[in-house]
Amino acid sequence: MAQDDLFKKLIAHAKEYGYIFQSSEIYDGLSAVYDYGQMGVELKNNIKKFWWDAMVKMNENIVGIDTAIFMHPAIWSASGHTSAFNDPLIDNKDSKKRYRADDLIEEHIQKYQTKINKDLAKGKKKFGDDFDEKQFLETNPNVLRNKAKIDDIQGRLVKALEADDLNEIKQIIIDCEIADPVSGSKNWTDVRQFNLMFETQLGSVADGASKIYLRPETAQGIFVNYLNVQKTGRMKIPFGIAQIGKAFRNEIVARQFIFRMREFEQMELQFFVKPGTEMKWFEYWKEMRIKWHKAMGLPEEKYRFHKHDKLAHYANAAYDIEFEFPFGFKELEGIHSRTDFDLSQHQKFSGKKIQYYDPESGESYVPYVVETSIGLDRTFLTILAGCLKEEELKKENGESDTRVILQIPPALAPIKLAVLPLVKKDGLPEKAREIINELKFDFICQYDEKDSIGRRYRRQDAIGTPYCITIDHQTLEDNTVTIRDRDTMKQERVQIPELAKIVEDKVSMKKLLKKIF
Ligand code: ATP
Repeated sequence: MAQDDLFKKLIAHAKEYGYIFQSSEIYDGLSAVYDYGQMGVELKNNIKKFWWDAMVKMNENIVGIDTAIFMHPAIWSASGHTSAFNDPLIDNKDSKKRYRADDLIEEHIQKYQTKINKDLAKGKKKFGDDFDEKQFLETNPNVLRNKAKIDDIQGRLVKALEADDLNEIKQIIIDCEIADPVSGSKNWTDVRQFNLMFETQLGSVADGASKIYLRPETAQGIFVNYLNVQKTGRMKIPFGIAQIGKAFRNEIVARQFIFRMREFEQMELQFFVKPGTEMKWFEYWKEMRIKWHKAMGLPEEKYRFHKHDKLAHYANAAYDIEFEFPFGFKELEGIHSRTDFDLSQHQKFSGKKIQYYDPESGESYVPYVVETSIGLDRTFLTILAGCLKEEELKKENGESDTRVILQIPPALAPIKLAVLPLVKKDGLPEKAREIINELKFDFICQYDEKDSIGRRYRRQDAIGTPYCITIDHQTLEDNTVTIRDRDTMKQERVQIPELAKIVEDKVSMKKLLKKIF
């Protein structure tokens, strides 16, 4: 399936099967805000559990918290968000469309990369087994020309962003002759900074309300509770605090479905370490996090690391884990070495001493922090994008047919099994109910008796249900059922009392965790 088509199909599929709805749809929607439906909420909860288990349950030195969305406004001054949480925006005067200026430039750079990839593919085709990719990339004149252009524009962009030089950012857009992707117009406004935090009021206006913000990241809730958790949990460095929660950003351009939302969820770990050991832990968490992603079983080549050229004001090293979404490789998770920036800032702004006393060495210090920060919604999107497939099937009569299947890893699938009586009579529905009443203590099950068994299997394939249990007339005689595997479509006859164990073995979260630990 072409990537554009795949993306359109994915969005339609997510709606049709109750995964994701546009927020406020009956009022024509609210831009870049989405609701999770009856299937979506289950998948989301399962992803959260997989992350929480991998962080908190599996690590003795990591604990979780759940902090409020509203926080004291001074926190955002201390963290730098009030002054520096900006994106450079630019408007096209003809189309009246608004863009992130750095995104326009990045997309332009991507075009040169696409040209390089095309030349590479041509070379491979032409020379077959004799093709030397390394030599080609180092010597082919077209490739070298395009590489030089990428390096030049990238270099200028990084410098301009670092220096907050908005005129230079506009100049790059002019020099590269970047046009509005919608209208083709090159009639641009100047570049302006735009703060991404949503503001609101705490208390009524008459009472002298104070301006507060909806948190743009969950991390600060962890930093300001560092002392509380360290003391009450008697935590010894190195240790981590994990949190899952909502974050809000007034994104300038919010396209690409749930990839860039104005209200989203993050899963963050702040890992506190002794100064000087942060690079060791940075490498450790890079490796652990990529293992976590790969444990889900999506194609490994869809993940890659991207090193940050421009470091955030607080970081001394940063990598992203990128995923190849239908619209290209994009950030899925950030792994940052944040130094002691945040704790030191909170120490300064709050006037409270935020330090760790090391009982072994007798020293006191402000801990350094390694952070892993992943978007829950973006992870959800990787699963939809990586698991939605259309399969050609050969029927027994030789005709071909297709089925749509959502190959979600069984441990994360919303519905673990469907229980289906072959016909709606002869006591089969009653037997099916009896089975479901037992299995529902362990798994989310679905009962379905409508339509032919083939159509019911297809419905479950499209939802992503890993197993279907069918009750037929033989069931009444020998207490056996068939269990059908979503991926292979193979059916096996098994004893009813063994069902719970068979399914548990296949859908347990432990299976995923064992791939990491
Ligand atoms: P981007 O460059 O894509 O705007 P970012 O570098 O600002 O992302 P971080 O501040 O590092 O993102 O946030 C950590 C994670 O939170 C990201 O890797 C991403 O998965 C998620 N995230 C950030 N912004 C959004 C958003 N608007 N919608 C959905 N998820 C988001």
